[in-house]
Amino acid sequence: MAEIKITFLGTGAGNCVYRNHTAIVLECSDGTRLLLDGSSGNSLLRQGAAVGFLPEDYDQILVTHDHADHIGGLPFLQGQRTLVSPDGPPLRVYSTEESLDAVRILCEATRMRSITVDKEGAKDHEGRPVFQWLPIIAGHAVELGPSTHATCFTVDHVDGAVGWRIECGGISVVFSGDTRFSENLVNASMGADLLIHEALTTGKDGDSAWNRLHSSSAEAARAAATAGVKQLVMTHIDSGLHDNTQPLIDDAGKYFNGTISVAHDLYQLSVSSS
Ligand SMILES: [Zn+2]
Ligand SMILES: [Zn+2]
Repeated sequence: MAEIKITFLGTGAGNCVYRNHTAIVLECSDGTRLLLDGSSGNSLLRQGAAVGFLPEDYDQILVTHDHADHIGGLPFLQGQRTLVSPDGPPLRVYSTEESLDAVRILCEATRMRSITVDKEGAKDHEGRPVFQWLPIIAGHAVELGPSTHATCFTVDHVDGAVGWRIECGGISVVFSGDTRFSENLVNASMGADLLIHEALTTGKDGDSAWNRLHSSSAEAARAAATAGVKQLVMTHIDSGLHDNTQPLIDDAGKYFNGTISVAHDLYQLSVSSS
């Protein structure tokens, strides 16, 4: 039986004051563990520690885009990884060239544990590799484990922004990253077991979400319905909806008949083939 276990370390929008920023852990039944986005500050480390994930447990991360609430935790992850496991493998960072450029600049500027950054990766002060940059092209699959692979697709947010479809043994999980309603996302999500989609507002405030380059719950649900996914989980929640996310679920329910939930920090679920 194939299975993917999903743990949401952070589920807040960029300016949400009640939740940690975006980072999601996927544990696939072939033993592959993935990070989707790197949150900000030490949230990724702190939230991970709360559910038993240590910095050295992460060897690869798929990045959606270069906003600080999605990549800001990478220097801290690398710093702690290198401190605890100096001879461990470099952290493999998969994203578009645009997003990798921002990650390089961030890591160079913050210089956690005195790393030096170049086009291929980064090394610590003793020359050991700590990062490996892996540029990806939309539509090209990358192999991440014995039976796990991922494909990214361009979304409508900022230059270089992508979402990801991850598949393990026939199980498929799609993550929107940040985006306005995206036809590319719908096409990439066809028949997926789970769609994790951002939802900044309900449909009645959809113009506000659009103006901020984001989606409403109505748009997340329309994407889920059109793609025929089995389950929708909404994330990237703004402050005003933190306490009561029921309006997001009610709104999405007008458009999508499948299972709907809203993630919260440390929310966990599994999808499996039986
Ligand atoms: Zn964001
Ligand atoms: Zn963003």
